[in-house]
Amino acid sequence: MTVAHNIYIHVPFCISKCRYCAFYSHACANPDWDTYTDGIINEIKHWSEIMGAAKVPSVFFGGGTPSLMRVKNFDKIINYLNRHFSIENNAEITLESNPGTIDMDKMKDFQSAGVNRLSVGVQSLDDEKLKYLGRRHSAHDAIQAIKDAQKLNLRVSGDFIYGLPGETAKTIKQICNEINKLGLQHCSLYELTIEDGTPLAKSGPIMPCNDTMAQMYTTIQETLALPRYEVSNYATDGNECRHNQNVWDGGAYIGIGKGAAGRVHIDNTWYEQRGGGVLFEQMTDTDRAVEKIITGLRTMRGVRLTDDVKNAINMDTVKGMQGLVQINNDRLCATDAGILVLDDIVVKIVR
Ligand code: SF4
Repeated sequence: MTVAHNIYIHVPFCISKCRYCAFYSHACANPDWDTYTDGIINEIKHWSEIMGAAKVPSVFFGGGTPSLMRVKNFDKIINYLNRHFSIENNAEITLESNPGTIDMDKMKDFQSAGVNRLSVGVQSLDDEKLKYLGRRHSAHDAIQAIKDAQKLNLRVSGDFIYGLPGETAKTIKQICNEINKLGLQHCSLYELTIEDGTPLAKSGPIMPCNDTMAQMYTTIQETLALPRYEVSNYATDGNECRHNQNVWDGGAYIGIGKGAAGRVHIDNTWYEQRGGGVLFEQMTDTDRAVEKIITGLRTMRGVRLTDDVKNAINMDTVKGMQGLVQINNDRLCATDAGILVLDDIVVKIVR
């Protein structure tokens, strides 16, 4: 019998491109949703034929801007998934959204169609910074989207970006205090990355230095009301994103739609898989173990020391890294100091 697989569905459309964005998405406010939906359904069909009605503990619609989608297309995809896979009764069904593309009525319709968790792309609570990032919405729009979702009792997450030119630990502290007032159960704070070829990169921004970035990162943990459970993610107990937690734990998931990636487990073999086609490639046990170490160490609870993971790690090196890593309950995890140098740790401990 096939193991449970989470499902990620990529929605690669946005009204316009943000200035920093290097994600796979097209600027298109009115895509041909029926053609897109047919493509997604074909991929679902393909995987259900391979693995039968596998159990699905979570479905994540990411983008792009999934909240741009017409609810009837979302509904069609969920119904098809329900018929061909076995979506668990208490499954987490997340929709990523951008303020300005969803109002209370549309949110209610998505909720009726199965969404129980809304991730809101806030990015900043300062209209000048939103303009600098090329976002189309205001801070007010974002706060309204969060309030609406909270009124509907959806599980709500907010995405934020920090580390913009001119930001310091002091300004980040104010930002975190503002975020605390939103009463979120979950939020993500990502450091602004300047990706080659983006309009932001071409504008030649002067970014905060590494030391300032590290101070900001530490200040976030000290100020945010929500505890950190992954490098960039914070949540109250039980409100962690189950979908992402599964990815970081090295669990199975199918990526559907161009731009999506997955790790599927069929007949005791792991495959690296890409959406938008039927490409998949077998992974060795070592590939899998190294991947689990890289993603597991990003989480505060760490990577479980299963035999494959132990075989891929040099335990003598681990013992020599006191203060940066520790073993708790048969899991290897990074300390607060270690989180700041995770890449170095991985390079040193992997055989
Ligand atoms: S909304 Fe997200 S995916 Fe779309 S352009 Fe902006 S950053 Fe990129």
